[in-house]
Amino acid sequence: MTDSDSREIVLKGISASPGICIGKAYLVDKEGVDVVEKYYIGDAQLQKEKNRFKTAVKKAKNELHTIIEDSPEDLRQHARILETHILLLRDKMLYGRTIETIEKERVNAEWALKKVVSIVKPMFQNMSDSYLRERANDIVHVSDRVLRNLVGAKPLDLGNIDKRVILVAHDLSPAETSQIQLERIKGFITNRGGRSSHTSIIARTLGIPAVPGLDDATRIIKNDDIIIVDGTTGIVIVHPTEQTIIEYSERQVRYEGYRAVITRASHFPAVTTDGFRLQVMGNIELPEEVVSVIDNGGEGIGLYRTEFQYLSRAVFPNEDELFDKYKDVVEVMGSKTVTIRTLDINGDKAIAAIPSGYEEKNPALGLRAIRYCLKKRDVFKTQLRAILRAAHFGNVRILIPMISSCDEIRETKQILAEVSNSLEKEGVDFNRDIEIGIMVEVPSAVVMAASMAPEVDFFSIGTNDLIQYALAIDRGNEEVSYLYEPLHPAIIHMIKHVSDVAKEKNIGVFMCGEMAGDPINIPILLGLGMDELSMNPQSIPAVKRMIRTLNVGDAREFMKEVLKKTTSRDIINLVQDTYGAMLSNETPSEYQKDQT
Ligand code: PEP
Ligand code: MG
Repeated sequence: MTDSDSREIVLKGISASPGICIGKAYLVDKEGVDVVEKYYIGDAQLQKEKNRFKTAVKKAKNELHTIIEDSPEDLRQHARILETHILLLRDKMLYGRTIETIEKERVNAEWALKKVVSIVKPMFQNMSDSYLRERANDIVHVSDRVLRNLVGAKPLDLGNIDKRVILVAHDLSPAETSQIQLERIKGFITNRGGRSSHTSIIARTLGIPAVPGLDDATRIIKNDDIIIVDGTTGIVIVHPTEQTIIEYSERQVRYEGYRAVITRASHFPAVTTDGFRLQVMGNIELPEEVVSVIDNGGEGIGLYRTEFQYLSRAVFPNEDELFDKYKDVVEVMGSKTVTIRTLDINGDKAIAAIPSGYEEKNPALGLRAIRYCLKKRDVFKTQLRAILRAAHFGNVRILIPMISSCDEIRETKQILAEVSNSLEKEGVDFNRDIEIGIMVEVPSAVVMAASMAPEVDFFSIGTNDLIQYALAIDRGNEEVSYLYEPLHPAIIHMIKHVSDVAKEKNIGVFMCGEMAGDPINIPILLGLGMDELSMNPQSIPAVKRMIRTLNVGDAREFMKEVLKKTTSRDIINLVQDTYGAMLSNETPSEYQKDQT
């Protein structure tokens, strides 16, 4: 090795799961599926080629079943993601189109599959929702597995890693991640992937540092290289100097101490210095994330985004399947509240099986969420029945997304009543007496809040969409992301109006958009009178800690100054000037020091 090979290199990726680890790199070999040859087949071989593909798919399916069965108990929940992969294997988009391509183009199965993936993958990648974008990776993982079987490559043997190493991979599929005995792994880094890829979700749930999105880590890093992974900043250091190792070892100790302190304290209520208790809840997309909410001190589920169970499915889940999923979450949470949001499908969360010939020109303004549900009554009723049945086992409330008129609320309540009546007639256990709330995320709902309030039990402000629709900024468009500003005066005035109406009409006012999870926004949200905040589980400890340093009386006074400001910059400066000291307490200063 030359000197230039071993000089310290700093790589920047995405901070997906916080924490620091230092150790030897273990490269996950993906040889065998990246380069695929194309060749033509004659009529005589056509059937044989199709059978070869079918056999490879069958084998992939059996492999996935075995992985699910062999997963350690604590990863069983995550292994369910693999069930999605099994379904993808039979999906028309992948399976049907590959067979079709073999038939039409008379090409070998490997080439046909690669071609189909190259068409289907961008469909997902172009979706503005980051979660759905990352489902493109699931397509790749599944097809890689089939390709391995087609070319006869060895399956990855991750189950036998018995060293305390840091995994370095091009990408890690959920299947691969669930084979790894994670207690033996210090952390992982990947070229691909983002914050909401399943691998990142698993890393956060288990508290293992992870940095995806490094582009070419597998090219730069060699087996057994010493590397440092800082999952909090998204930094990876290859061949660190002795001085860097000492510095990061110290940071690691401080970070672990800091997490232990705030997480321990997070199990206590978030009460301000003048005695006001703010409920701090967790957002989940998948049932298995409940564990992370509880571990981080979440006091309930403020938003259960249910659409992900409908993803990549040619056939939507049936009532019993949904009921089982909801019941799992409700039972784990015991007496704590579980807010189940009805399907927020389409828009940035488009269904994978897009009906051919139908594409919305402007999906964010299209047949999304409640609009979709009111049109597809059967789909809606199936979900409502499952929710009402699960509500029998705990403390459930229903949240309706994207409400833009009073009519939509009334129609929804009418359907809910019909569903309750039929469940009653059938003698099925369910809970009719359930709170119903709406997402306030469309500007017309803000304006009409006073007319909507008597119809519902609570408002939950969805700032992700409210900002998008109020400021006319596509939430997934990087070009305009600089305008995506939660502390924009217009947004603050809208939240104030919704909160004032809720207080006057005596209903709860909550927030479940990303804005609720950032400590810098907390003085304003407290001053505006939020009763409950719901966020990514990892954000709960820092937000609770921030709340404990604040005083509601002061925050209300502070709001008078905030409301006079006319730009986001002025508001941010005001928050920094007034609460800067408390905000810098959010991470220990020694840990923040020298962060790149
Ligand atoms: C929101 O819009 O703020 C929200 C919480 O919902 P989603 O991000 O799922 O659209
Ligand atoms: Mg929304």
